[in-house]
Amino acid sequence: MKRIAILGATGSIGRSTLDLVEAAPERFEVTALTAATNVAQLAADARRTRARLAVIADDSRLGELRDALAGSGIEAAAGEGALAEAAVSADLVIAAIVGTAGLSPVMAAVRAGKTIGLANKEALVSAGALMLEEARRSGATLLPIDSEHNAIFQCLAGQDCERVSRLILTASGGPFRTFSTEEMARVTPAQAVAHPNWSMGAKISVDSATMMNKGLELIEAHHLFGLPEERIDILVHPQSVIHSLVEYADGSMLAQLGSPDMRVPIGHILAWPERMPTGARRLDLLEVARLDFEAPDPARFPALRLAREALRRGGAAPLTLNAANEVAVEAFLAGAIHFGDIAAIVEEQLTRMDQPLPDSIPHVLALDAEVRDRTRARLPELAD
Ligand code: NAD
Ligand code: MG
Repeated sequence: MKRIAILGATGSIGRSTLDLVEAAPERFEVTALTAATNVAQLAADARRTRARLAVIADDSRLGELRDALAGSGIEAAAGEGALAEAAVSADLVIAAIVGTAGLSPVMAAVRAGKTIGLANKEALVSAGALMLEEARRSGATLLPIDSEHNAIFQCLAGQDCERVSRLILTASGGPFRTFSTEEMARVTPAQAVAHPNWSMGAKISVDSATMMNKGLELIEAHHLFGLPEERIDILVHPQSVIHSLVEYADGSMLAQLGSPDMRVPIGHILAWPERMPTGARRLDLLEVARLDFEAPDPARFPALRLAREALRRGGAAPLTLNAANEVAVEAFLAGAIHFGDIAAIVEEQLTRMDQPLPDSIPHVLALDAEVRDRTRARLPELAD
C-alpha cells in the first residue's frame, strides 16, 4: 500500500490523480487532501477516499469544512501550517497546487525527505536551487508529473544526464499557434483557455497560449535534469503525441509517446517504479498517421525568449518571470488587460530585477510578494 497525499485535490491534476487512486484501492491509501476554497468538493472527496485529513487553504472556511465532515471521523484543518501537515502525512505527495502558493507545502515535503510527484512547476521555477539543495540534504525524491519532464524521465530510464547531449521539449503551440501578433493581441480569456489537445486549469491554459508554459518548463527541465539552457531545445509539435525527447552523445534520440491524457504521466509516477493501468486511450499510430514539427516563433511568442533570458541571468530573474506572469495571467483572466500585455508586463519586471537568488524560502516568498505588488501597481495603466 502506498500512502498518498494530494495537494490541490480539487484541480485538474488533483482530479485525474483521484480517478487513478480510486480505481486502484488495493494499491493506494489516501492520507490527506487539500483545496483552496471548494469545501463541498473537498469534503465529498475526503469522505469517498476515507482520507484522514482534509485541509482548506482559506482559514475563513474551516467552520464550513468541519460541518461538511461532521460524523465522518476525518480531521478538518485550515491554513499554511495545515497544508504543511498534509504534505508530510504520506509517502508520496502529489504537488498539484497552482503557482507559488504551492511552494511552502512542497518544501515541507522536501524537508521531510518524502517522494514528491511534482506538477507544481512554479514552485521549482521560483526556488529550484533551494529546493534541490534541501532534497539532497533530506534524501527527498522529486518525480516529474509534467508530461514533458515525465517523458524525459522515462527516456532516461534511471540514468543521469551524463551522456545526454540535448533535451528536446515538445510544445503543442497552444490555441494561437497559427495566429498573427495582431490577431493574438485581442483574443478573449475564453479563447485562450480552450486548448486544442489538453484539458487543464485556467492558469496553465493561458500559459500554454502565450507559450510561457514552455518557458517555465525550460527552467523546470534545467533544475530537474541539470542541463544548461543552451542544451534544452523547444520544438513545436501540434499533435502532442511525442511528449519530449532525449538526444544522446552517439546521436540516438529517445522519445516517449502517448495520448495527450495527464493520467498517463500521473499514473507513471503513482505506480513508479512499477506500472499501472490508467484508462487513457491507447495511441493509434495509424490514426495519428503523421507527426509534424515546427520551430517556435520567438517574435509571436516573446515569453520563450523571456524565459531563456531569465534562466541565463539566474539570481532572482526566474522568480520574477514567474511572479509577474502569475499576476498578469490573473489580470487577463479577469478581463483587466489584453492578451498581448502579458509578455510585456513580464518583460518590464524582468528588466528591473537585478537581485541574486534569495538564500531562504521566506526570502523567496518576500521577494515574490514584492514583484507581485510592483506588477499589480502597473496594471491600471494598461487597462482600457
Ligand atoms: P487547477 O487550477 O485546476 O487546480 C489548482 C489546485 O490548486 C486546486 O485544487 C486549487 O484549489 C489549489 N489552489 C489554488 N490556489 C491555491 C492556494 N492559494 N493555496 C492552496 N491551494 C490552492 O490547476 P491544474 O491545471 O491542476 O495545475 C496544477 C499545477 O500542475 C500547475 O502548477 C500546473 O502548471 C501543473 N500542470 C498541470 C497540467 C494539467 O494538465 N492541468 C499539466 C502539467 C502541469
Ligand atoms: Mg507540460
